[in-house]
Amino acid sequence: MPESAATPLSAEYLNMLGCVRCGQCLTACPTFVLTREEAEGPRGRIALARGLAEGTLTLSPDLARHEWTCLVCDACTAACPAGVQMDPLQVSLRATVAAPETLRARFYRWFGLRVILGAMWRLRIVVTLLWIARGLSVDTFARRSGLARLLGLERAMDLVPTSLSDDHLHADGTAHPPVPEVSAPTRVQFFAGCLMSTALAGIDRASIRVLQRAGCAVEVTRGQGCCGALHAHAGDLDAARARFKATIAAFAGSADFVVVNSPGCGAMLRDYAHHLAGDPDWAERARAFSARVVDFTQFMAPRHLRMTRRLDLTVTYQDACHLAHAQRITAEPRRLLRSIPGLALREMAESTLCCGSAGFYNLTHPETATALRERKLDRAASTNAEVIVTTNPGCLLHLQAGLTARGSTTRVRHIAEILDEATAP
Ligand code: SF4
Ligand code: SF4
Repeated sequence: MPESAATPLSAEYLNMLGCVRCGQCLTACPTFVLTREEAEGPRGRIALARGLAEGTLTLSPDLARHEWTCLVCDACTAACPAGVQMDPLQVSLRATVAAPETLRARFYRWFGLRVILGAMWRLRIVVTLLWIARGLSVDTFARRSGLARLLGLERAMDLVPTSLSDDHLHADGTAHPPVPEVSAPTRVQFFAGCLMSTALAGIDRASIRVLQRAGCAVEVTRGQGCCGALHAHAGDLDAARARFKATIAAFAGSADFVVVNSPGCGAMLRDYAHHLAGDPDWAERARAFSARVVDFTQFMAPRHLRMTRRLDLTVTYQDACHLAHAQRITAEPRRLLRSIPGLALREMAESTLCCGSAGFYNLTHPETATALRERKLDRAASTNAEVIVTTNPGCLLHLQAGLTARGSTTRVRHIAEILDEATAP
């Protein structure tokens, strides 16, 4: 590799060299499955990145487009026998290659990542304003008047959850609202997330209740915020690293586990060790922190959870990419669902193929995201399930928006909500 190519990409050069071009990842890749184009598959993307790193290719709009259509779903990483890791490669690549996007999209990205997700108090204000706006039917007015289309916000509005409220989960060192203290041998720190603790705070509370019923003392650790995954996948590596360090500093506690109920966040928290490996001040702290991170389903599966209610429900399970591929956790959520009396789990075809949500992807690449979502909803519908169970907030909102557009009565629920219902006193 030429010395002149010293960019964030150069840190992933050995990773790229690992690709032996066997093609085993191709049919796992959602964009390859949709297009059958080499440049829209993992092998093609790695070759383009390598050409760029070695200086045999120059940066063109076409090259940038193929890299940015990657959903960073990590299905190729899970399928690769040579151990190539697509997530860190894409994070480095995106810090080098700007997204081909309009000025308006660029503004929304800056505003969303730097301004709103830069501090939890700002996100809480935005979610509260959305809740008030919904109460006053401002969203209905914006749609009917064409204002939403004019501002390019129609799709984002589809993703706003119906359960919005101003009752957010504050990371203040305790569980909120106050729940009876549990004297338990297992102490866990709970990673509340940005979206999960505000727009989907009900899921966080359900997760905490389930953890407590399994005998854990749960701390909602003070000072935490966004994990930085959205920043990293959007190419804003400086802001992402700032979030990584702030999170590690906030969780500098003595609990054995940091439990996270959003796999997109969990995969990134576990990846801090990789992303900060070259930083002498943070490498060891990041390694120790990442080793403590555990997904909610992985944590719960081996624990005793007394089921108190029968749930006569037929459900299907949609694997979130960052749980199934990035963390290789597929058996645990299914085991938990099967342990609920009355609940019938019917497997859908292609449950591990990305649903198209992928952070902001469903806003930046609406056509691909919708094609993948429709494919997923067709597969789910063929099981006749009443509920699609998932574990990731992005999948949940994206799929629910698709079901609403179809006029379907099927619902999407987080696994913590189902477990909460089945174990309620
Ligand atoms: S499976 Fe791995 S080694 Fe084979 S083409 Fe894909 S990325 Fe390259
Ligand atoms: S991360 Fe997903 S979308 Fe990107 S190349 Fe790999 S399989 Fe394809």
